[in-house]
Amino acid sequence: MNRSDLTFYLVGLRRGFNFKKMMDFVNENQYWSKDQIYDYQLRHLRKLVRHAYANVPYYRNVMKTKGMHPDDVKSLDDLSHFPVITKEDMIANYSDFLARDFERYHPWEKTTGGTTGVPFQYYNDTKSWGLYWATKIRAFQWGGYRLGKDELVILKGGTILAGDGKYRFKTKVWRWIQKNYTVPIINMTDETMSMYAKNLKRKKIKYMRGFPSAIYTFARWAKENDVDFKLNRIFTTAEMLLPHHRALIEEVFGCNIIDTYGCGDGMAGASQCNLSDKFHMNIETSIMELLNSDYSNKAAPGETGEIVVTALHDYAMPFIRYTPGDQAIVSKEQCTCGVTLPTLDRIIGRTSDVFYLPNGRVLNGISIAFDIWADKIRKWQLIHEKPTLIIAKLIVTEAYNQEDEQTLINLLRANAGEGIDIEIQLVDYIPLTKAGKHKFVISKVDY
Ligand SMILES: [Zn+2]
Repeated sequence: MNRSDLTFYLVGLRRGFNFKKMMDFVNENQYWSKDQIYDYQLRHLRKLVRHAYANVPYYRNVMKTKGMHPDDVKSLDDLSHFPVITKEDMIANYSDFLARDFERYHPWEKTTGGTTGVPFQYYNDTKSWGLYWATKIRAFQWGGYRLGKDELVILKGGTILAGDGKYRFKTKVWRWIQKNYTVPIINMTDETMSMYAKNLKRKKIKYMRGFPSAIYTFARWAKENDVDFKLNRIFTTAEMLLPHHRALIEEVFGCNIIDTYGCGDGMAGASQCNLSDKFHMNIETSIMELLNSDYSNKAAPGETGEIVVTALHDYAMPFIRYTPGDQAIVSKEQCTCGVTLPTLDRIIGRTSDVFYLPNGRVLNGISIAFDIWADKIRKWQLIHEKPTLIIAKLIVTEAYNQEDEQTLINLLRANAGEGIDIEIQLVDYIPLTKAGKHKFVISKVDY
């Protein structure tokens, strides 16, 4: 047993689960039949609905209003009796989503910006989190990675991190335990990249994980500077991986990419295997429905559908038919790799967070720390107006002054790089989308 195995084992021991068993479980059921998957999901859905009815005010009200009883859930299709809820719905009725017996599940607090950028605090039961990690590690294993044996470099942070860009102590400890080496892509200068590349070589790191935008930036630098650096596998996450980015990254690092999708609010997850471009869904952590735009019907294979998830093991704050705002296309055919987990052809909807600039830089708008300006900036929106122009629309408070404006311009300039103009527009109103949502990041440029 190594330090990673040991940590997961100890966390599990304290919280009532056995991580080793979870790993064995997910490794075995990746070969389950359709019926086995269906039975498993239905069993856990029924248990979750019984709990939600008894302990969670929001779902109890929904069921009472509709005259539903937990025993009425007899098939997975019965999920359709529940309304689809958004992050905004949960924020508006926050306490009604927390279970009366909340503490029992040792919930861990999490925060997400998500695709719309609304900060949202939610909870994962520790046990649910453990299983989620097991499914993630399973996907890493598809790429040859062994937890605790292989070191993993993580490139993260888009281009801008909050505050001083340093990681918290807890994060550092956690990364040591998991044998992770973190590269914060905050200042992408020749000097820092060269230092990171040397460290990666010295440590003989063969696996890399991170935001596609960060890895692409690193790959581009390596190519321009003739840095020869080969890896065994790369895992990308959290943003859309563009085809020409994939091509350059794979060429520079001499290996293929396993792209992954994850959404802790709702426990949705899907990962490419080592054989095809399709994404295998994690059927253990959630039920992932793909629905048409008004959620009235299932999207047919080959059609783009809205992702709607039901987390099967989150009891402290249940997610039943929650939409994280992403979309996907259900595959017409299964993957031929042998893994029987159902597949998606593509996952879309994550491009909106990222600007691809003509100078080669990639700017992740959502990762800009506007929340630390909360007393000065009431609302914001970043627009990639033209290839070389970024507009920041701001609704500001009285506390906002000229100095703040300059700081913001400098911050955006530093991260957008050479040849990109930054324009600040102070406005009274920022229009919402047709669906009534505020979009934090908009691109009007074709990439
Ligand atoms: Zn496969």
